[in-house]
Amino acid sequence: MEVTCPACAAGYAVPDALLRPGRRMVCHVCNAEWRWQEPGPLAAPLPDMAVVAPPPLVAVPPLVAPPAPAPRASGGWALVAGWVGSLALLVAAGAAAVVYREAVRQAWPAAGWLYRAIGLE
Ligand SMILES: [Zn+2]
Repeated sequence: MEVTCPACAAGYAVPDALLRPGRRMVCHVCNAEWRWQEPGPLAAPLPDMAVVAPPPLVAVPPLVAPPAPAPRASGGWALVAGWVGSLALLVAAGAAAVVYREAVRQAWPAAGWLYRAIGLE
């Protein structure tokens, strides 16, 4: 930031990282000392400044589209119905494999070892 000596108007380029309000400054030209203040429009208002109405606010569309509504949390009756249906299908398949084991064994002889393994000879 450009820092100007208030006594002799000598200018210095000072890194912003070194500047903080209240920092002691010494001019190498005239040896004046002062405390640095953040320059701002309120720091030194001009006496005969004309009052200008601020420009009207203009609606600006957001840069990023608003996020889509979050999907409804799964669960409830649909989840329960899914689990019940899956379990019913498994039970029905197992029961059919037991009830119709002779037909299964004729159609797929390799399945015989499975029936023997679970004691359904
Ligand atoms: Zn100076």
